[in-house]
Amino acid sequence: MTTQETIELFKKYVIANYGRLPRVMVKGEGCYMWDADGNKILDMFPGWAVSGIGHCHPKVVEAIRKQAGELIHVDNTFYSEPQGRLAQMLSERGFGGKCFFCNSGAEANEGALKLSRLYTAQGKYKFITCEGSFHGRTFATVTATAQPKYHEGFLPLLPGFVYIPFNDVAALEAAFTDEVAAVLVEPIQGEGGINVASPEFLRAIRRLCDEKGAVMILDEVQTGIGRTGKWFAYQHSDIEPDIITMAKALGGGVAIGAMMAREEIAACLVPGKHASTFGGNCLACAAGIATIEAIEEGSLLQQAVEMGQYAQQRLRALKEKHSVIDHVRGIGLMIGIQLTRPGAGYVAKCLERGLRINCTHDSVIRFMPPMIVTKEQIDEAVNLFDSVLAEG
Ligand SMILES: *Cc1c(COP(=O)(O)O)cnc(C)c1O
Repeated sequence: MTTQETIELFKKYVIANYGRLPRVMVKGEGCYMWDADGNKILDMFPGWAVSGIGHCHPKVVEAIRKQAGELIHVDNTFYSEPQGRLAQMLSERGFGGKCFFCNSGAEANEGALKLSRLYTAQGKYKFITCEGSFHGRTFATVTATAQPKYHEGFLPLLPGFVYIPFNDVAALEAAFTDEVAAVLVEPIQGEGGINVASPEFLRAIRRLCDEKGAVMILDEVQTGIGRTGKWFAYQHSDIEPDIITMAKALGGGVAIGAMMAREEIAACLVPGKHASTFGGNCLACAAGIATIEAIEEGSLLQQAVEMGQYAQQRLRALKEKHSVIDHVRGIGLMIGIQLTRPGAGYVAKCLERGLRINCTHDSVIRFMPPMIVTKEQIDEAVNLFDSVLAEG
């Protein structure tokens, strides 16, 4: 099928809720993907942070093949080994909680919000979230997403949500009434433009949740599974949350979401309270196990630290040459380049030359290579970005 023929199918049969580029992708390997016309693209934003260990990692491919030949799905009426093993792996790399599996980031957050109300009960129902956040598109998670542009056309939203400015401890204290069931926050806002939560902010959330008996939920859907150089971004801080949610990179490209909760909280989810038909299926969990193993066998946490430092240093150096760069921020391989003007034009030009990056919130370039990225590939990407900026 030609590129044009595929696009025609979309025009006729697929709902046009995405602004798609006129390219059809057919193959991915590591840091690269190829379109149907044979163009090779260096992918520094693979799958919107889903392909965290690159496209089609051989370990993940092998694990999927093997599991598919044995059992793809069994419902949660029964036990299955991959789900149990993946839960153990996540628990041991996190804070020792228990896991619930689902299929996406939004679902993981939905689960966390529902669980928080169950656990706190007794008149507590409010959720505090932050301006500039992104938590998903379901009614609860889009309500949690404190950005008016995502709410337009969907009112009335779910009641009970309170928004505060990100990193604003005074606003947090003021909003923290006795009705608060949970605070939901990203340790680094992703879609919101790579805004890192300050240690003081995270500590204040922890302290207030403890004082008031509320639940601290960290949305690690984008930050989790190694991108920042630790399994979870909260591990850069000195606090532990009560619940973390994850998805994106967890399945190495396969759809999977998870919420991990402290045991005492997790105990509230008794049969009948919450569920997911596909959640924890054998195929997705096998992919999750393989992803974690690939990260460990390849020392990819360390690589994320080193390559993150290298990429940030190279990008910061570009600031000397290009006044359009205001500053570079982020942790590990979660990098934002704050421009002084809109970035969409640069992103489009980069893609024409074979480099994929992303622009969010108008003027923040997201540079989020997979954890397998090499120095040479970072050089290739930064040099190309440099030449595009040079053209103005
Ligand atoms: C992508 C994202 C979500 C939503 O995940 P979906 O899988 O699209 O539902 C939630 N939170 C954060 C921080 C994200 O980056």
